[in-house]
Amino acid sequence: MSTHVVTFDQFKRKYHDEASCVPILISTKWPNGYRCPRCDCVDAYVITTRRLPLYECRNCKYQASLLVGTIMQGSRTLLHKWFQALFLIANPSGSINAVQLSTIIQVTYKTAWLILHKLRHAIQQGDAQQLLTGLVEVISAEYNPCNFHIKGFKTIRNEQPFVGGASLNFYGEVSYVKLKHVFMPKHHPNKELSYWDYSNFIETHVSSSVRVPFIHYGSKKYNACDTLNIICDSVPVRINERYYGVSDKHLQSYLDEVSYRINYSLKPNRAVSKLFRLFIDTPAVTYKQLISRKPMCLHLQVA
Ligand SMILES: [Zn+2]
Repeated sequence: MSTHVVTFDQFKRKYHDEASCVPILISTKWPNGYRCPRCDCVDAYVITTRRLPLYECRNCKYQASLLVGTIMQGSRTLLHKWFQALFLIANPSGSINAVQLSTIIQVTYKTAWLILHKLRHAIQQGDAQQLLTGLVEVISAEYNPCNFHIKGFKTIRNEQPFVGGASLNFYGEVSYVKLKHVFMPKHHPNKELSYWDYSNFIETHVSSSVRVPFIHYGSKKYNACDTLNIICDSVPVRINERYYGVSDKHLQSYLDEVSYRINYSLKPNRAVSKLFRLFIDTPAVTYKQLISRKPMCLHLQVA
């Protein structure tokens, strides 16, 4: 098996127009052939007069689009542009913001922003299915947006704590990491995490088979695995160098994107194919749902 890492140029040559994306989408979505989502019948007419093939069940006449149930459902953007965006956001060697993406795939800023947020949503769904197992360590860390919304020449600082948790392998190295925002109101006097914040994280993100996760409270975090500390300390830079500070409302989706890239840093091809799977399996979210989203709060998740 080849371990060759596919470059963006090679990927772009392979998926250069809509028609070049259809076969892989069909074969990944229905690996054992088409099946009617309503009656399970395997016989269908393929209607090819549309932009993308439409399947009409011979039994119940239900019409299924190729994009039904995918994160892309309802989008008018061409498939290969989605594919290229997917490659760029999953690629462990870098990240991409909406301005850059809009230039590369030739769409408006708003469309690029929406595509990236929908892909982050798919990443989030994938992460939710993966609990930390084995030897688990948990620490607290902080995101400082250091943003440039200057009012009266004063930079607004609104540090937001997050929990960093990791599964460690036999050598004590991080094998999977999760970064989860704990929302704090702007003027909250104490941004230290409480016992409840850690236990809520564990309840939601650590497998119940893990009897004793190691929680390194507050400044004791430097007793934890070095890599976990280095990862958490690097988060503000990783986010700000590309996105120039993100609001607490969307922080969780950027944390998930960063951790996705870290978790697949040694497997770049896998990073892209895994996100392609999530792209197919994650139902779409609307712009309205994305912007009305409340900051993720561990307290709220449990309540
Ligand atoms: Zn049917």
